[in-house]
Amino acid sequence: MVVKGSQVTVIGAGIAGLAVARALALRGAEVTVLEQAPEIREVGAGLQITPNGHRILAALGLEAEAEREGTRAEAVELIDGETGGQVLKLDLLKQRPAQPFRFFHRADLVTLLAEGARAAGVEIRLLQKIEGVTLGQGRPRLRTAQGAEVEVDLLIGADGLHSKVREALCGKVAPFFTHQVAWRATLSAEPGIRPVAQVFMGEGRHVVSYPLRGGRQRNIVAVEERRRWAEESWSLTDDPLALRIAFEDFVPEVRGWLDRIERPNLWGLFRHPVAERWYGHGAAILGDAAHPTLPFLAQGANMALEDAWVLASTLSDAASPEEGLAAYQAARQARARRIVAAANANATNYHLSGVRRDLAHAGLKLLNRFAPATMLNRFDWLYSHDVTA
Ligand SMILES: Cc1cc2nc3c(=O)[nH]c(=O)nc-3n(C[C@H](O)[C@H](O)[C@H](O)COP(=O)(O)OP(=O)(O)OC[C@H]3O[C@@H](n4cnc5c(N)ncnc54)[C@H](O)[C@@H]3O)c2cc1C
Repeated sequence: MVVKGSQVTVIGAGIAGLAVARALALRGAEVTVLEQAPEIREVGAGLQITPNGHRILAALGLEAEAEREGTRAEAVELIDGETGGQVLKLDLLKQRPAQPFRFFHRADLVTLLAEGARAAGVEIRLLQKIEGVTLGQGRPRLRTAQGAEVEVDLLIGADGLHSKVREALCGKVAPFFTHQVAWRATLSAEPGIRPVAQVFMGEGRHVVSYPLRGGRQRNIVAVEERRRWAEESWSLTDDPLALRIAFEDFVPEVRGWLDRIERPNLWGLFRHPVAERWYGHGAAILGDAAHPTLPFLAQGANMALEDAWVLASTLSDAASPEEGLAAYQAARQARARRIVAAANANATNYHLSGVRRDLAHAGLKLLNRFAPATMLNRFDWLYSHDVTA
């Protein structure tokens, strides 16, 4: 497809939308991004960009900005939440010095990508909520919340969890509640916070903590298995007491952080199937619109970046948009399924109880002592994947 001069409309100025917008604009497309929010603002908390995602930031020419805004991770530590004893350490800096792994505040990554998109000529239009998407009757047609109807040439749905473009392509799906909730918060960090992701594990619960913004903030995600329902939302808040009670038998270090949280966000964790169809009738979906994932492998933003790069490259390499979109789905769908399945499994691994937990922790401690590189090697399929190669 001749990308140069083609007109592309992207719905959603999140990580997927802004990355694909810059990638296509750098290849000469005229890209417009429609975003429902009134501004690109300070929303969300921490995200981890692993080496597979970082390669795309570098290929988009944003490596220096990523280095400036992100905090380079030295290690990931698994810790027993009740005793504070270390179970496993993945020494990223020592074992994978050439593979950057960074912690970002979501707002900083979105701002960095938005600036990158604008610099490449992308027009970002705010306050553009899309309420209806019609596919299969000529060109893709959009209806805005203000009632305007527009037809577009190529439509890219980067509109997240509740994607209208996915619904138009695949119909409605019914996600199911996993009976897990995640509280999210950021705190001012104490001096000397280490650039390490710490995972404190307990029965049916875990807490993840890592620094953000050059060590000025601490990101907290606390996950609990429970019967009670919670909404799948990025903006719901909860009573901090519920969070403190859930982790009252964790080590004082963790309880001290939780005691300082005044308004945690509460996020009900749902499982969504990976979309069967990622393109059709002049439209495509990517990021959470195509494959929302549980957060237990920290791959939501990384998969969005991988999709964005592959979509822009397959479109520019193909003879026609249809051929490019088909190549995009073929290149991405199996990997997305594998990552989503691995994230689903990880929750169970963190939350073990009784004898299974004792055996698993003893095994990990042995590995840590005698073959510390083994665990990181197990993630090579994930982190060493290079869609820009
Ligand atoms: C407000 C918010 C906070 C988040 N906080 C965290 C966090 O703290 N930690 C974490 O790990 N992940 C967080 N995420 C999710 C994470 O960003 C994504 O899982 C991942 O980056 C994939 O990104 P995406 O671009 O596919 O989707 P998203 O990041 O969800 O972006 C989708 C974008 O599309 C816009 N949009 C949606 N529907 C419409 C519509 N109908 N019309 C116009 N625009 C539309 C949204 O406003 C949003 O800007 C958050 C997402 C959002 C939207």
